[in-house]
Amino acid sequence: MRGLLIVVSGFSGVGKGTLTKELLKRYPEEYALSVSVTSRKPRVGEENGREYFFKTREEFEKMIENGELVEYACYNGNYYGTPAAYVQKQLENGKNVILEIEVQGGMQIKKLFPETMLLYIMPPSAKVLAERLMGRGTETAEEIHGRLSRAIDESAYVTSYDTTLVNDDFEVCLNAMHKVTLDRQKEMDARRSFAEELKNELVKITGQEE
Ligand code: 5GP
Repeated sequence: MRGLLIVVSGFSGVGKGTLTKELLKRYPEEYALSVSVTSRKPRVGEENGREYFFKTREEFEKMIENGELVEYACYNGNYYGTPAAYVQKQLENGKNVILEIEVQGGMQIKKLFPETMLLYIMPPSAKVLAERLMGRGTETAEEIHGRLSRAIDESAYVTSYDTTLVNDDFEVCLNAMHKVTLDRQKEMDARRSFAEELKNELVKITGQEE
């Protein structure tokens, strides 16, 4: 089966990072995770090249100029972007490539690659989201406020996504992510081979060479 490009978005604190990491751990042959570039400062425990490639704003702007990013966006005052080379390489290797990115980036990817599957991870409630964000203790109160406000704007994009999954029970949500991916891959493969068959028949009927 051919690899899919998968955009995973969701409000800050919804658990999309933990879900994608676990998916990769369980199915390392099937998925690859794109490591983004960002101008935000590393959080405690984050490593350059693992969570993100951490760059200065100037370095990031150079990457934009050089066309090294397939998409980028500004989130809470910092740049975030997807390096083009890695995504291309992993897709060629037949992997399902996950881009864990925010909604503006998701929309850019969909435009560039219309076959992309867009997944939106939802919290079971706003209260649970706020509690999770405060509980992880990685952001200041001001940052948390900014992220929750941003979630209000992001909620308008949910209907532009192909599928939404609620991260209430982690295992249930993880299995659902894997299942929608497999189903989509199967469906795309079936469509592709049917279209190919039809095309070959049409070439014969019309006597047209490709
Ligand atoms: P965080 O600071 O919590 O790591 O990420 C903030 C937001 O930026 C999250 O919604 C995350 O999905 C998004 N993000 C991470 N990498 C990228 C990227 O390469 N492009 C875009 N557009 N958003 C990203």
